[in-house]
Amino acid sequence: MSITFESFGLNKALLQALTTEGYTIPTPIQAQAIPDVMLGKDLLGIAQTGTGKTAAFALPILHRLAENRVAPLPRTTRCLILSPTRELASQIAESFKTYGRHLGFKVAVVFGGVKYGPQERAIQGGLDVLVATPGRLLDHMQQKTLDLSSTEIFVLDEADQMLDLGFVKPIRQIVSRIPAKRQNLFFSATMPTEIGKLAGELLKDPVKVQVTPQATTVERINQSVVHVEQGRKRALLTEMFADDNYTRCLVFTKTKHGADKVAAYLEAGGVQAGAIHGNKSQPQRERTLAAFKAGKLRVLVATDIAARGIDVDGVSHVVNFELPFVPEAYVHRIGRTARAGADGSAISFVAGDEMKLLKDIEKVTRQKIPATDRRNDKSLGLLDQSIMAAGVGTKATMPDREDRPRGDRGPRNPRRDGVKPAHGGQPHRQRKPAPGGNREGGRDGGRDQNRGHNGDRAITNVTPFDPLAADRARSAANANRPVAAPKPDGEISRRPRGRRPSNGGKGYVAKA
Ligand code: AMP
Repeated sequence: MSITFESFGLNKALLQALTTEGYTIPTPIQAQAIPDVMLGKDLLGIAQTGTGKTAAFALPILHRLAENRVAPLPRTTRCLILSPTRELASQIAESFKTYGRHLGFKVAVVFGGVKYGPQERAIQGGLDVLVATPGRLLDHMQQKTLDLSSTEIFVLDEADQMLDLGFVKPIRQIVSRIPAKRQNLFFSATMPTEIGKLAGELLKDPVKVQVTPQATTVERINQSVVHVEQGRKRALLTEMFADDNYTRCLVFTKTKHGADKVAAYLEAGGVQAGAIHGNKSQPQRERTLAAFKAGKLRVLVATDIAARGIDVDGVSHVVNFELPFVPEAYVHRIGRTARAGADGSAISFVAGDEMKLLKDIEKVTRQKIPATDRRNDKSLGLLDQSIMAAGVGTKATMPDREDRPRGDRGPRNPRRDGVKPAHGGQPHRQRKPAPGGNREGGRDGGRDQNRGHNGDRAITNVTPFDPLAADRARSAANANRPVAAPKPDGEISRRPRGRRPSNGGKGYVAKA
């Protein structure tokens, strides 16, 4: 019989919230961590997002705070959670609010890049839970708007990312201000030496919980590769989004500029898309992410760094418009789909000069990804020409391409230049978003084999391409294995190493 949340003896208000959320079975990290954290023990969790680790610490923390309910003193917090990024900090705070909705706790989040005033006011009266990025938290401590002298529980989330972002020293400064008698919870996807050292300093006799094996998540995602010329990738993307099954998609590009171009190109073609990357302001990033979460955007185009910590349920597909430079980033990218037991697919567009990257990825994931060859594909060529003729693939909106003759570049972006769009004044074909496959017609129905992307103008006969067809056929041949195999809870492998974003975490955070 499987373990239930009730069996942990969690506070009834929490169980009620979990029922509302539809959580019935604890994930492996929750099953292993919750009982010990409820007892007040220190914890070392080797896990990353997608495993249910937020609830693994949020639930027992809320339980403990509720068991020993005291009014927090002004400018203090009973529990402090450090997160490397603003997005993750916001999501953690949201989780605390969701799970603790019947407990009436004061939860706030602080990060850089936004005004201090509202954050100071939020902290002023005292908090039960504060989620913060290290830079802004230190600022508040230095300004004496925050006092950690009565903090009882300390959580360090995504410790290896903290190292990547240069936050280890600030963390030590912060921790030195928290009373030694406290409960410590430490989470990291990997254990580089310096992080192991930090864990050793912070934790006292910790319970160790590891969600492995490395390749599990990779194995449970339907992966495929499409070999295609760089210049035909946009046509392939158009073909793909003619399929209604692509309900909520994350498209990864390798550059910020590329992300903008792909999003603009999709938008111009009638697919609701937004881009997030380091050059976007925090309010822009938050708006775009919120629209994607709410199903108002069907596609979110992102760079690796901007996508860190993003946790959106029901991502149907991850599309690698370009492969990442490091294989670990591939694993991290595709882990955004097939979360918490849901179905998910990952499709990678691979141009000739990306073959080496693909080989590296296959080496790291220890598997050969099923591939389809669309090079020299006439239908893609024709589609590309239709896109050009319709004025969608303009210089400003097109992803980079090398194989297009100079004289064939079409008009400039009609919207930007105030030129009437080539399709008669209907710049966007509005389609109703339908997150999680609830679109009219359902996930399995309603395919439109003839979906044009620019009003009634030239882009016709777009047959949705199914890059997983070969894989599915192979799976279907295996009588013991369902086509979309049920996905066990699991863990993603090592996290990519990345550059420090320009804001360095000083940037931002909004009040939860
Ligand atoms: P996390 O690893 O904390 O980022 O969680 C990944 C996703 O799994 C989040 O969207 C959670 O809402 C969801 N989740 C966490 N625990 C459970 C559970 N026991 N049952 C169903 N969904 C869950």
